[in-house]
Amino acid sequence: MVNKDVPAKPLIIWLGTNTCAGDMLSLLNAKDPGYQELISSIAELRFDYLLGASEGSDAINVLDDLQKNHKAAYILVVEGSIPTRSNGLYSVIGYRNGKAWTALQAVRELGAEARYVVAAGTCAAFGGIYAAAPNPSKCVSLQAALDRKVINVPGCPINPEWMMGTLNHLIQYGEPALDDYSRPKLFYGETIHNLCQRRDYFDNSIFAAKPGEPWCMYKIGCKGPVTYADCPVRQWNGEHLSWPVKANTPCIGCASPEFPDGDVPFFEHLPDVKLPGIKVTANRVGLLTGVVTALGIGAHLLGSILTGRLRKH
Ligand code: SF4
Repeated sequence: MVNKDVPAKPLIIWLGTNTCAGDMLSLLNAKDPGYQELISSIAELRFDYLLGASEGSDAINVLDDLQKNHKAAYILVVEGSIPTRSNGLYSVIGYRNGKAWTALQAVRELGAEARYVVAAGTCAAFGGIYAAAPNPSKCVSLQAALDRKVINVPGCPINPEWMMGTLNHLIQYGEPALDDYSRPKLFYGETIHNLCQRRDYFDNSIFAAKPGEPWCMYKIGCKGPVTYADCPVRQWNGEHLSWPVKANTPCIGCASPEFPDGDVPFFEHLPDVKLPGIKVTANRVGLLTGVVTALGIGAHLLGSILTGRLRKH
């Protein structure tokens, strides 16, 4: 007997908080499966803050219904950071019972009843642009606003396949393997630097002096060595056509937890790495992952110098 109260397909809420909407727009570039499959065959997208047809109380009623009547049956995806100043009044989802329903309240209430909670984009995952200094609205990441586990899918914006892959994994197999920042290792398990098509130029000290040149972008600020994402192999633009370095501009580290404050100035190189007896220049490193990766870069450079692949300079 079919229980009519149990939805046949997983339900998804895609909630927008402090966001430029770039992640949902990027998701529309997804192919095989695409957005159409997501909302029709794979799952049921019950609420989409950007593309949904309903508005006002009709839209809020959809969220009410999901929270009250579909506990643990929906995946809550949040795009955007969460303002906490003035009790969260810098981002209001709508009106509930005649009162402003802030993003802070909404993610806590909807998140408490969700099966999984997913942060879409760097702002939701780590605070991102909205939490950059001086952070006037005191924005925080989704994880900082909730006391339950959040799966982070960072990127500014997300690559559509990072999100499609994560949602499909949750639906088909459950939670994917995650790293220390709660990111799926499937997509964030390796540095951009280690996957980059220009790695050979780095290894041989052939560096671009300005954007537009076809060499390694390290000396003009590339954050590929400290950024974990598979951009070089997955690529972007729907048909896997390009990514920043392929378009002759440095990676700015948009998927990293330090973005943007720890990645600026974007066109300045990582800090110097000093190794015993050797000073390797042209390095600047961000905060946590940066320091660790710098040691890795330093070790790599040292190895390259010792094997004669890299000139001392
Ligand atoms: S520094 Fe940037 S451009 Fe150079 S190899 Fe690494 S990721 Fe590629």
